[in-house]
Amino acid sequence: MLEDKSPQRTALENLGEFGLIKHLTQHFELNHESTILGIGDDAAVLDFKGKKTVVSTDLLIEGVHFDLSYMPLKHLGYKSVMVNLSDIYAMNAQATQITVSIAVSNRFPLEALEEFYAGVALACKTCHVDLIGGDTTSSTKGMLISVTAIGIAEENEIVLRKGAKPNDLLVVTGDLGGAYLGLQILEREKEVFKVNPNSQPDLEPYSYIVERQLKPEARKDMVELFEKLGVKPTSMIDISDGLSSEILHLCNESEVGCNLFEDKIPLDPTVISTAEEFKMDSTTIALSGGEDYELLFTIDQEDYPKIKANPNLTVIGHMTDKKEGAHLITRAETKIALTAQGWNSFEG
Ligand code: ADP
Ligand code: MG
Repeated sequence: MLEDKSPQRTALENLGEFGLIKHLTQHFELNHESTILGIGDDAAVLDFKGKKTVVSTDLLIEGVHFDLSYMPLKHLGYKSVMVNLSDIYAMNAQATQITVSIAVSNRFPLEALEEFYAGVALACKTCHVDLIGGDTTSSTKGMLISVTAIGIAEENEIVLRKGAKPNDLLVVTGDLGGAYLGLQILEREKEVFKVNPNSQPDLEPYSYIVERQLKPEARKDMVELFEKLGVKPTSMIDISDGLSSEILHLCNESEVGCNLFEDKIPLDPTVISTAEEFKMDSTTIALSGGEDYELLFTIDQEDYPKIKANPNLTVIGHMTDKKEGAHLITRAETKIALTAQGWNSFEG
C-alpha cells in the first residue's frame, strides 16, 4: 500500500539534533510582517501591533490519531497543520504562524521526516502561514506530533461558540461524512492487503472521500468570504467530531436549542453511494463521523440574502429556545433528540 518505499534510509543519529532541525526547516520562508524572528534562537519573536492573538494546539499520536500503514507521511504533515489551522479559522481569525514539534523512534529515517516536512511546507504555503519553531525529540515507540497555530483578528471580528440566538440560521460549509467513509475505505484496503500483499487496490471510485480523509483543507476561504460578504457569524465551531456533537457544543455554549433538518444535510454523491455499499446510513455518518474540518456557524436571519447564493454554504436548520432542546427533523418528519454520538432513536 502507501507505505514509505524510499530507497535511501539515512539514520537520524548521523545528523545530530541541530543538523536535523536545520536540514528539515532550511527551505521554509517567513512571509508575515508579524514574524520578527523565526527558527534558530531560544524563542520566536512576534509583533501583532495591537490585534488580538488566537492560539490553538493539537497533539497527535501514532496508533491513536493516525495509522502510518495507509497515511503517507507527506499527507500526515499536511493534515497535522490543516487540522490546527481549522481551529484558528473557526474563531474567524487569520492564521499567521505555526510551531511543529515531533518525537520519533529510531525506526524513522531522515527521508521519512523529509516527507513529513514536505507536507508541512505545502500546508504553510497553501494557507500562507510561517513555521516559526518547534521541538524535536526521540520517542521509544512511534511518532508524536504537536502543532500550535497562532492567528490574529480584530477584537470585534472574533467569533466564539457562544453567541447564537433563537431564530439564527444554522449553516455548514462544504459537505459532510466524506472523511469518515474515506477512512473506512482505507481500513478495508489495509485488511485486504494483509491477506494478499500483491493486491492492487482500486481507490479511483473513492478518490474524493479518500482525499477528504488524507488531505483535509481548512476553510481559510470562508473567513475571507465572511469579510467579503460583510457577514459576522453569531457563533462558530469547526467540525472535527461530527455534526451532532458540534451542534451540541454551539447549543450548550450559546444556551439555545436547535432544529436540524435531515434533508438539508449536504452530502457528496460518493458519500451516499459508499454509505450504501457499507450498509450504513449516510445521515448517521454525517452526524457522527469525524474529521471533515468544515465550519459550522450561525447567522442572524437578516444576513440570509448575503449567503443564500453561495454554493459552499448550506442552511441546515435554525436555533430555538433552549427549553426546546436540540433535535433532528428526519425526512419522515419525526423529531429525534440529538446526542453527542449522533442521535438517540429512543427519544421522541
Ligand atoms: P531548545 O534546546 O532551546 O529547545 P532547540 O534546539 O530544540 O532549542 O531548537 C532550536 C530552534 O529550532 C528553535 O528555534 C526551535 O523552535 C526550532 N525547532 C526545533 N525543532 C523544530 C521542529 N521540529 N520544527 C521546527 N522548528 C524546530
Ligand atoms: Mg527544543
